[in-house]
Amino acid sequence: MAVALTVGDVAAFLEAWAPPRIAWDRDNVGLQIGSFSRRVRGILVSLDVTEGVIREAVRKRSSLLVSHHPLLFRPPPTLVTGSSITDTITLAVRNEIDVFSVHTNLDFTRGGVSFALAERLGLRETDFLSKTYSSKRKIVTFVPPDHLDMVFGAMSRAGAGTIGNYDHCSFTTGGTATFRGNSASSPVAGRKGRVEHVKEMRLEMTADEWQVPRILAAMRASHPYEEVAYDVLRMENVSDEFGMGVIGNLKRPLRVPSFLQMVKRNLRLPSARYTRGSGNTVRRVAVCGGSGSDLLHTALHQGADAFVTADVKYHTFHEASGRMLLVDAGHHETEFPVTTTVAAFLRTRLAAGGQRIRVHVARTSTNPVTYV
Ligand SMILES: [Zn+2]
Repeated sequence: MAVALTVGDVAAFLEAWAPPRIAWDRDNVGLQIGSFSRRVRGILVSLDVTEGVIREAVRKRSSLLVSHHPLLFRPPPTLVTGSSITDTITLAVRNEIDVFSVHTNLDFTRGGVSFALAERLGLRETDFLSKTYSSKRKIVTFVPPDHLDMVFGAMSRAGAGTIGNYDHCSFTTGGTATFRGNSASSPVAGRKGRVEHVKEMRLEMTADEWQVPRILAAMRASHPYEEVAYDVLRMENVSDEFGMGVIGNLKRPLRVPSFLQMVKRNLRLPSARYTRGSGNTVRRVAVCGGSGSDLLHTALHQGADAFVTADVKYHTFHEASGRMLLVDAGHHETEFPVTTTVAAFLRTRLAAGGQRIRVHVARTSTNPVTYV
């Protein structure tokens, strides 16, 4: 019998995949309503949080609602009944429904929103359309040879030197350091007031930006010197784990009208707005679930024949016209595929832990847009 699953456990699964630190800084991801310690009796995954979705969660005995768009993106100033957000919050609290959101962190992670859209459109050989710069830093410090292991060990335990599936990664070179202490100094090596030449090791390790303060504290605590010389360097490496949009290839080229019909069919669109590109066939396709217009130029540079996204403005269509088949396939429609992906991810994680908790994808329509 598996131990009771808590909201905190589910949050940990989701945040290991889509870390909150990669979310847009004005976003509001994570637990919106409820408690991390509450037991999870069932999970409902939806794109948005509405009263209808909360009622569906109650009906399906799902005590936890996992949404893409945060309920409290623009928190209301009061909780007076009568507005849709206030009534949704009240309904969730009254029915003890916990609400947890993975928003731009799910947009920017591998396997997230745009990967789900790419899969729905049958794209292969997919990768990020635009890779973000990594948030890695390099910490370099200079240590006497007999203290190297101690400093290296302390920095590793604090999280430095983790690259992919490896930890304790470092590089060391030997050299000569010089220093002169003033009258107030108390040097470990040599005498104050004299220029000293000593053997030191240059120790370099990578670190995630958010871990730097902890690692520096561990480094100082384990270092024998009164004044520790160190550098924290910004790295320009691109990240392989995080990025924006996705680019991939269709199994075989499609003529433009067939491609547009395929997009409509796979995303269940009654209609779509588009502008013509330069060619008659489509093979290489860029996608971005939700508002991805800013990636138009990246899609052009990457040699995409078509770009499928949403919330495209008139002037963006003008920019693309004659250069790129640009399709506005709707915000809800381009993001909806990720709800199935999130549900499948949670089912796998729960099954691995021996949990028999049911995970549903919400059937309540939350698309505020209709077509005539
Ligand atoms: Zn969205």
